[in-house]
Parts: sequence; C-alpha cells; structure tokens
Amino acid sequence: MECDKCGADAVLHAAYSGLHLCEEHLCASVEKRVHRRIRDDNLLPKDATPEDPETWVIGLSGGKDSVVLTDILFDTFEADPRVELVALSIHEGIDGYRDESLDACKELTADRDIRHEVVSYADEFDIRMDEVAEDDPKDMSACAYCGVFRRDVLSRYADDLGADKLLTGHNLDDEAETALMNFLEGDITQIAQQFDASLGPFGGDEHGHTRGDSGEFIPRAKPLRDIPEREVALYARLRELPAHITECPHSSEAYRGEIQELLYELEERHPGTRHSIMAGYEKLAALAASEHRSESPNFDECENCGGPTTGDLCRKCGLLDALEAV
Ligand code: SF4
Ligand SMILES: [Zn+2]
Ligand SMILES: [Zn+2]
Repeated sequence: MECDKCGADAVLHAAYSGLHLCEEHLCASVEKRVHRRIRDDNLLPKDATPEDPETWVIGLSGGKDSVVLTDILFDTFEADPRVELVALSIHEGIDGYRDESLDACKELTADRDIRHEVVSYADEFDIRMDEVAEDDPKDMSACAYCGVFRRDVLSRYADDLGADKLLTGHNLDDEAETALMNFLEGDITQIAQQFDASLGPFGGDEHGHTRGDSGEFIPRAKPLRDIPEREVALYARLRELPAHITECPHSSEAYRGEIQELLYELEERHPGTRHSIMAGYEKLAALAASEHRSESPNFDECENCGGPTTGDLCRKCGLLDALEAV
C-alpha cells in the first residue's frame, strides 16, 4: 500500500480515518495531534514567561508511551524558555523489570539533557513491590497497592519539584478502556473527579472551572490521549527511541484485560469506536463534574503523613500499616 500523502510505502493503515501513511507522514501526524491537544487543552497558559516558566513533570516509566511523550515534548519545547521539563521515574522494586526500563529512561533523558529524578518505593516507604505482591495482606492485586503508592510519590515529588502540571503518557486505548471501565462500574463520582483532575479545560470553562480546581492535587495532562496505542508503538520504533517493552510480572488487572479485548474487537468491526467513546465520555464527564462539584469531599490531613484524606489515615498509610503488620 502507498501513503495517501506522498506515495511512499505505507507503514500504517488507520481504519478509523481510512488513511494509509508512510513513516514520515505517520510521525508528522502523531506530532500534529499531540500539538493540537496541547493547544486545545490550553496547556501552556498565556502568562507563562521565560522569567516565570511553567514546570511540567513527566511521569517517565521507560515504556513506549512515556518515552514518546517525553521525546515529542522535548522536540516541541526545547527552544521555548516558557516551559521547563523534568522527568520523574519510579522504582517499584520489581526484579528483572524496572532496572531495564530505568536504563531506557536514563538514556533518553541524558541524550536530551532533561533533568531526571528517580524515586524508589524502597527509599520512600521501605517496601519493594516484589514483597508486597508476595505478602498481600489486603488480598488485592499488586497493581492496587502499586497504584496508591505511585500516586502518592508522583504528587508529592511533583509538588517538591514545583510542578505546575503532571504529564503522563496515557494513549487513546488506555483512556477509552478507563472510560468504559468507569462507565460499566457505574461510578459517577469517579467520572466527575477524573474530569476535574485530568480532562477539563485549563484556563477555565464557561463556569470558571479550571482543571485541578480542587487544589488538593496537581492537575494532570495526557497529551497522547488522542493517539491509538499502535501508532505510539510505531512512532517509538520508527524514531528508534529507547523504550522498554517487557510487561511487569505482577501486572494483573484482569478486568482491564477483558475490556481491552472487548475494545479491540469492537474497533476491528467498527473503526472509530475508541474515538467516539472518548468524545461522548468527555461530555458526560463534564456534566457529571458540574453536578458533583457541590458534593465533592472535604479533604482532611492524614494523621500520619499529612497527605489529603477523607478519613483519619490516607489510603497509602493504611496500606503501609497493613504491610508492616505482616
Ligand atoms: S503492572 Fe501493576 S505492579 Fe507492575 S508496575 Fe504497573 S501498577 Fe505496579
Ligand atoms: Zn507519506
Ligand atoms: Zn498518610
């Protein structure tokens, strides 16, 4: 097949758009969609100046998504003094997995001279995920623990680094899966919170709400959320980016796996499903958010660590207590 733009050999047929694209035109199209998302989300506010730049902390795992995100952001803002990029990686303590992906992170950031911070669960909490998965005092999936610890580390360090925004590499498939899961679980509060934390506009909507308004959490941004996973993977390969592809040995999100398969089949039979899920979900989430804002929980300080919580102890401290009692 030939590229619809230039006639060179196509590397991708995107069924949802009907386009065949060659290497160059695929990469250009990925970059264009990321730039448009950054613009549409108003990620870079007008009042950012070289004297008072925005600090964007990128959650860099070394997987293809966060590697592609870091690469495109670097190319886009390298010469723009209004944006400072900092990459933040987490070492969970998973043998045979994280060391390799951290090598990818180090290579990527060193080549581009991006500040890179690595934080480990061992230093932060005196735990390793390999042991957490083994002990499992709460009878949950490893990812359920890991997600709580990761959120805690990311938001505390993003805060310490003076982050204005926390950027993650979630792609269109990730986002459509999460949307469908939230919807199928019937969790409207979760949908509303997700909108305020990572979907709503920066710079205020018509009611004056801005992403991250609740003030408790650093607002999130996902500039790759319009790009299908396959295109992110192709981009990483074509640009020869150092990305680590092995799966975590504790990865056990069975329900997400089912949703993934379902979405894959739907997309095969009805190209464009992921895009339409997200278009509808964003509108629904906006409605849910405006409906739920008045009843959003009041955050107290955790007795142990001072982090935000609606009870006495935050979730992280509860889990750490349980792990210590093993
Ligand atoms: S797959 Fe689960 S356990 Fe492994 S790093 Fe990701 S969240 Fe943590
Ligand atoms: Zn082409
Ligand atoms: Zn706590």
